[in-house]
Amino acid sequence: MTQFTQLVDGLTTLGYEIGPGQVRLFEVYRDELLRWNQYTNLTSITDPSGIETRHFLDSLTILQVFEKDAVRNSHMRVLDIGAGAGFPGIPLKLILTDINLVLLEATGKKAAFLRNVVVRLGLTRTTVVNDRAEVLAHVPSHRESYDLVVARAVAPLASLAELCLPFVTVGGMFVAPKKGAIVDEIAEARNAISQVGGADVHLVEVRLPQLADERTLVCIRKASHSPDRYPRRSGIPLKRPL
Ligand code: SAM
Repeated sequence: MTQFTQLVDGLTTLGYEIGPGQVRLFEVYRDELLRWNQYTNLTSITDPSGIETRHFLDSLTILQVFEKDAVRNSHMRVLDIGAGAGFPGIPLKLILTDINLVLLEATGKKAAFLRNVVVRLGLTRTTVVNDRAEVLAHVPSHRESYDLVVARAVAPLASLAELCLPFVTVGGMFVAPKKGAIVDEIAEARNAISQVGGADVHLVEVRLPQLADERTLVCIRKASHSPDRYPRRSGIPLKRPL
């Protein structure tokens, strides 16, 4: 069995301990990712160490946003928008096993991979939706119904705000992990954030020895309802940010 030392050490720094059973699930997930990646374009990171740190541990840095005791047994509703091969949603689910997770992914083949992984890992309270955020955000059972929405490497923040905040319940939070300098990106997103009901942008710096690049979690609290017209139709939030 793989040791996953970097993952285990990184999680310890974040205040979480995992046992052999959970480590084994990360191993199964990694092996399925590499197997499917031979014929479906899921990730450009194919070395086991890179998957362990740049996918698994990077996804789990989102745990820093919460007080550990507040989330450990939480049934909160979590939506991962543009989940791709499952990041950050699936690693979060493997640690916060009680959350209700929805993985939203526009590409059919990736959604098929996600469905396969959900079965292989025996994940309960986990649903895969193959659709676009611009469409699903207008479905009443999904609109303003998530305590936490996450999106990694999907779009610039101004577009993300329009795509993601309409899913967040008032009082809930949207978290976008970002790499490198983000000051300009946040400034450009201010208008979009306020138009769709977001408030106070809060930044959490990631400091883990296993992750070398500068990483920041951009956290946006939902303060008021999103007007019905947002998000606009498919492709527009990316093409013409608010
Ligand atoms: N979040 C994953 C990660 O960090 O590895 C995947 C990142 S990948 C670069 C972006 C993904 O977002 C793609 O799989 C794409 O199909 C999906 N995506 C982009 N726009 C979307 C939208 N409007 N609705 C749903 N999925 C979207």
